[in-house]
Amino acid sequence: MPEGDTVWNTARVLDRALAGARLTGSDFRVPQLAATDLTDWTVRESASRGKHLLLRLTAPTAAQWTLHSHLRMDGAWRAYTPGERWTARPAHLIRVVLRSPGAVAVGYHLHELALVPTAEELSLVGHLGPDLLGPDWDADEAVRRLAAEPERTIGEALLDQRNLAGVGNLYKCEVLFLRGVSPWTPVGAVPDLPGTVALAQRLLAANRGRWTQSTTGVLRRGGTSYVYGRRAQPCRRCGTAIRKEELGERVTYWCPVCQPDRS
Ligand SMILES: [Zn+2]
Repeated sequence: MPEGDTVWNTARVLDRALAGARLTGSDFRVPQLAATDLTDWTVRESASRGKHLLLRLTAPTAAQWTLHSHLRMDGAWRAYTPGERWTARPAHLIRVVLRSPGAVAVGYHLHELALVPTAEELSLVGHLGPDLLGPDWDADEAVRRLAAEPERTIGEALLDQRNLAGVGNLYKCEVLFLRGVSPWTPVGAVPDLPGTVALAQRLLAANRGRWTQSTTGVLRRGGTSYVYGRRAQPCRRCGTAIRKEELGERVTYWCPVCQPDRS
């Protein structure tokens, strides 16, 4: 599931493949950019902001632009060597292809694909809270934003990217299990909000640089999470069947014994 760590990793892959390269061609397969041609544009760098990807480019006119994309639940970027077959996903999911002498970057099922002047990046990501994996991560500010809505459930509040950027459903479920907090607990009743935020940051940071997301330290299939994706399986701590329920628009997993509902 693309969460902050996956997007961070993706940004690094794109950076390694394209940074410093002059593009030899581009192929946009979305209506809003169908007429765009990035041939002879130079890639400056690739960065992530929460779950948003920012590919920064310089046009032949020297103007600085940013190609924005969002992976949501199902998007992906892959870097191939020229001539290599593009095997990651079916071809009909391709939204953009960027070619350089050393690498071809293919974006699959990308959302919110947009090309904006770099100076206007904030119009796309300025609403985001502190980025858990950003160089400017600010835990106190994330706690302050969460605490500003004390009635809201912690499960919803952690997913709101305006509070802190990078937590998706997987990390939300896992953090709350590890803190022993029910997803339905009002933010104002969470015993240690700073500790919860700090743990979320540590879990994401631990998964930088690898594609298998694990919160348990175990990387083999079936062992990577405490509750996420484990409905009806025994809790790793107490043996109770893990439960799954809709929370707002998202599914949540939790252990009813380890995460008692205190409200
Ligand atoms: Zn349990």
